Amino acid sequence: MLHSKLFWRLFGSYILISGLAAVAIYFVMANRRETQAIAQLNRRLAELTAALQPYAADVFSADMEAALFQQRANELTAISSARITLVDADGVVLVDTQSEPSQMENHLSRTEMQVALRDEIGTAERESATMGIRMMYVARRVDRNGQAVGFVRTALPLTEVDSFVARQTAPLVSVVVGISLAGLIASYLVVSRILRPVAELQVAATSIAEGKTASIPTFNRKDELSRLASAFSRMSKQLDKRLRQMQQRASELSAVLGGMAEGIIAIDERGRILFVNDTAVSLFNLPDDDLRQRPLWEVLRHPSVQKVVEQATREKKKQQIEFETIDGPPRQIELNVTPMPGDPGQGYVLGFRDVSELRRLERLRSEFVANVSHELKTPLASILACAETLRGGAIHDPEIGMEFAQSIERQGERLQQLILDLLSLARIEAGEEPLELLPQPAAEAAKECMTHHAHTAEAKNITILLEPIDPQLSVLADAEGLRQILDNLVDNGIKYSRAGGSVTIRWKRAAADRFAVLEVEDTGIGISQADQARIFERFYRADKARSREMGGTGLGLSIVKHLSQAFGGSVAVRSEIGKGSVFSVTLPAADAIAG
Ligand code: ADP
Repeated sequence: MLHSKLFWRLFGSYILISGLAAVAIYFVMANRRETQAIAQLNRRLAELTAALQPYAADVFSADMEAALFQQRANELTAISSARITLVDADGVVLVDTQSEPSQMENHLSRTEMQVALRDEIGTAERESATMGIRMMYVARRVDRNGQAVGFVRTALPLTEVDSFVARQTAPLVSVVVGISLAGLIASYLVVSRILRPVAELQVAATSIAEGKTASIPTFNRKDELSRLASAFSRMSKQLDKRLRQMQQRASELSAVLGGMAEGIIAIDERGRILFVNDTAVSLFNLPDDDLRQRPLWEVLRHPSVQKVVEQATREKKKQQIEFETIDGPPRQIELNVTPMPGDPGQGYVLGFRDVSELRRLERLRSEFVANVSHELKTPLASILACAETLRGGAIHDPEIGMEFAQSIERQGERLQQLILDLLSLARIEAGEEPLELLPQPAAEAAKECMTHHAHTAEAKNITILLEPIDPQLSVLADAEGLRQILDNLVDNGIKYSRAGGSVTIRWKRAAADRFAVLEVEDTGIGISQADQARIFERFYRADKARSREMGGTGLGLSIVKHLSQAFGGSVAVRSEIGKGSVFSVTLPAADAIAG
């Protein structure tokens, strides 16, 4: 409490006020005492003159000797210490108890005499000419037959008053000091009582300001302080609630930003990092340490990023760019720089999205469209050319006419096959038709395929071999899909083999009987390593001319790959140029699943 400024301000003011009041009281009281003492002195002198008046009258009527009066007066002076003077109507001093009357000057002009002449009694205070001290004089007029015959005057020194006042000073001072002290103690108690709750509130407020929890004191009284404490308590609760809401929002926001597929970096106006989410860290392989407050350019060195941030800062509006990463394998990144709301600006949010896959798919799509158009254009051009030749006269030559009609038919079939393959591929890729995955006996599917291709194989002098198959082996697949896989592989085997070659169909169990592997092996032309990596792409052909000549669409292996994947399997190829190829399709075994 004694260290409190407010305490000293209040208490100090009180000390000052009470000090001034004490001094004022002292002077008022002292003055009153002096006035009373003077009045008392005056009264004494007036009484004395009244008592002396009959004797003075006797002296003036010559009934009494002046000497006798002098004697009586001397006796009275001895008792009362008062000076007694008898003056006649002309101002001549007849008797005086202090000086020799004959040596005294005329007293008629004295103030007290003049006043007494007029009012019967007169009072004056002045320094005595004979004694040299301040005196109080009271004169009384003495009359005879209505005529003033003289004056009797008494006087006492005013030092009596002074000593009376001096005697009164010590008790007066003690009373004033006592009252002041009592007031001082009372004010100390009152000020302390007012300030103690303020000090307690201040301690609680300081704790809250420092982020600590503090209980707000309650005061058992019904004054402004108690209301202040309860208002403060409500405010503190509100503050606490708001703080918790903000923390909750911040953690929600952080969870949302952390879970975003987009990399997010927030920077302030000066380009210093405020926040980085995990996606951004892994996208740019950023260091694990705390990146906050570090300059963006130091963490993410890319000229395009720097440039677009500068542009956003300059133009104060959203910017978008796409750039390729410099470090590691090249990736296409889309960057959106959005200014944060607020005036002045709070900074920028940088959203990074890896669009490499998207761009690859877009490229594939446009390539696909170009390929389809090209594939459709070739047989169509051929058909149109044949029709034109027929119209130009060839139709009248039965032999040539037949040849062109057959050519139109072949090209038509090629177009039909192309469209069927495209539709099939589109259906598998879109997953529109739910595939009915049922156990399909491996041996049956292989035999059916062999029968289907027997004619073509024979025409090319190619043998189709079927290795012995476990009659129990069945795979989980869609019947039509499995047929398509086998047909495409065996068809390719025949297409890309020379006369005298062979195509072998083989079924094996794999991966602890959980999978079955279909192998289609040929003794054909083989596929180079570079082509092996790409033959499963749509429209990719190792040898375009030969493929077209064979009526291929470039979609067969793509269909095989998509179907195998749709069945929960995969496809692979082993091949050597000039020796032949082995295509193996791994599919889930039906008995293993069932078991
Ligand atoms: P296509 O209709 O052209 O045969 P595919 O998708 O079935 O289309 O095959 C893609 C390419 O792979 C073919 O053009 C061919 O170059 C090559 N290919 C496929 N199977 C074989 C094979 N058994 N032997 C050699 N090359 C093959």
